[in-house]
Amino acid sequence: MIDDLPPLREVVARHGLDAKKTLGQNFLFDLNLTSRIARAAGPFEDAVVVEIGPGPGGLTRALLAQGAHVVAIERDQRCLPALAEIGERYPGRLTVIEGDALEIDVAELVRATGAKGPARICANLPYNVATALLTRWIEAEPWPSVFDRYVLMFQKEVALRIVATPAQRADYGRLGVLCGWRTKARILFDVSPAAFTPPPKITSSVVELVPNPSPLACNPRALSQITQAAFGQRRKMLRQSLKSLGLDAAALLAKAGIEETRRAEEIDVAGFVALANALSAARGRE
Ligand code: SAM
Repeated sequence: MIDDLPPLREVVARHGLDAKKTLGQNFLFDLNLTSRIARAAGPFEDAVVVEIGPGPGGLTRALLAQGAHVVAIERDQRCLPALAEIGERYPGRLTVIEGDALEIDVAELVRATGAKGPARICANLPYNVATALLTRWIEAEPWPSVFDRYVLMFQKEVALRIVATPAQRADYGRLGVLCGWRTKARILFDVSPAAFTPPPKITSSVVELVPNPSPLACNPRALSQITQAAFGQRRKMLRQSLKSLGLDAAALLAKAGIEETRRAEEIDVAGFVALANALSAARGRE
């Protein structure tokens, strides 16, 4: 027991919250597990935690029980009454925003709270928008943003891509470059499908991303364009794959000090940053 609120199964039944696949709804009812995820984002003291997709509130309750102030963004209106009950149990500590997290500036949300302590994002993300959300948060300007840690649940396959380097060739791609550039990312633990209602087909993983306060200087848009071109044709040599940028690929590679015959999956973060900077310089000259 982490609080005196009713068990989550009862909450879900009482409010008719049958899970919708279109909203990526796979709920966690085990408060021991949600407490473990919340602990990974703590300790909280004066911290504000942004939670995406609280659903019936299993993780929300764990975060609140451990002392966090929570700002939760939920798209499914049906969950709001259940979340209001949690808010009553923790007066002044839970703000629920009804909306699409893809359309909300989370850093602005934290600034609007006027909170002085650290800010984090902790969520069991809806799988259909998880990668889009993470990419947006890590590409945000200015960097470092207001968040000092991100503790997020993904499909394991996505988690492996987030932490991948050229040493994990099959998983290494755009996400690994982006997250490797601006954060230190690691998988904390896996969660079996049986922990969710309904159970998904795949294993999930909780990932911690700690922002790197001084990453190599580079424009995130240029990095995104370079990695899109390079990994878009990952088996091809870079002199070929980078042609899709509409610039002199050989000149870009020469400027970045990378051999034309290399392939995307062999290039580390520093190499991609050098290429992105060569791209920015070339575009500046156009
Ligand atoms: N946090 C709950 C838990 O762990 O049991 C629910 C997690 S469930 C995987 C994902 C939640 O995100 C659902 O409640 C869903 O309604 C919500 N959601 C889906 N798309 C969303 C979006 N674009 N913005 C905000 N919430 C969204």
